[in-house]
Amino acid sequence: MFERLAARLQEAIDRLRGRGRITEEDLKDTLREIRRALIDADVNLEVARTFIEEVRQRALGQKVLESLTPAEIVLATVYEALKEALGGEVRQPTLKERNLWFLVGLQGSGKTTTAAKLALHYRSKGRRPLLVAADTQRPAARAQLRILGEKIGVPVLEVRDGESPESIRRRVEEAARREVRDLILVDTAGRLQIDEPLMEELAQLRAVMNPDEVLLVLDAMTGQEALGVARAFDERIGVTGLILTKLDGDARGGAALSARHVTGKPIYFAGVSEKPEGLEPFYPDRLASRILG
Ligand code: GDP
Repeated sequence: MFERLAARLQEAIDRLRGRGRITEEDLKDTLREIRRALIDADVNLEVARTFIEEVRQRALGQKVLESLTPAEIVLATVYEALKEALGGEVRQPTLKERNLWFLVGLQGSGKTTTAAKLALHYRSKGRRPLLVAADTQRPAARAQLRILGEKIGVPVLEVRDGESPESIRRRVEEAARREVRDLILVDTAGRLQIDEPLMEELAQLRAVMNPDEVLLVLDAMTGQEALGVARAFDERIGVTGLILTKLDGDARGGAALSARHVTGKPIYFAGVSEKPEGLEPFYPDRLASRILG
């Protein structure tokens, strides 16, 4: 991901290299190139506009026009703006003594895989995870989590067909107590698109179980579409943070760059492979460096 955007940004900035001074016109051209590169990478228009304005202000603030190395200064300002767009500092969910987190998202987004990845990630940090396969309609979805749980050695509680939210809550609490679990990861039902019955079911489960985090899993490959999904889930269910999957894919990167701004939610993690180990905290600074080469 980001290869093409990276090449375009570097090209735009490289044009300023070796120049002792640049005119306001040069800076304008460069910013125009950067803006085009962002839009071609499927970055949200509003995000691209804000981004360019940010770089322009910073660059002017640093007196780039009089500077001896304008390319370096523009590079540094683009880096800062990229890091900012990606969320600034690394953010992670707050861990308490006992934690109940929901994973929500569309079917195919990588929700179930991510639930298992989170279990593995936090187990390596000394937590005792319990996975909950909470799709009350699709036994196949539950089976998928069960198999993943067996593979990584984490217990999985499966809900029953049509089970009520109250019953699910009771059984989850019992299992967590019995097996001394302090991180409960609920893999909620996903559907191919957002539909009202799904949202209603999720809203009810949320109301009854009152999770500490509602993590929305977004497939970065779906571009701007992912952000429409994010808005819908947030309005209806309330989302506390994002996990972007498939950052190892060949998407243009627009969703990753726009997610923070469009949703106002922190990006906690990135999925970087299909394997249970393929989850990393989302590092805005590292990603910004990578994009700028
Ligand atoms: P769910 O329907 O949302 O639960 O999605 P799944 O967990 O079943 O994932 C859908 C597909 O995406 C599966 O083939 C996963 O292996 C794949 N997948 C999930 N996360 C990642 C990721 O970060 N990188 C890659 N390359 N594939 C992923």
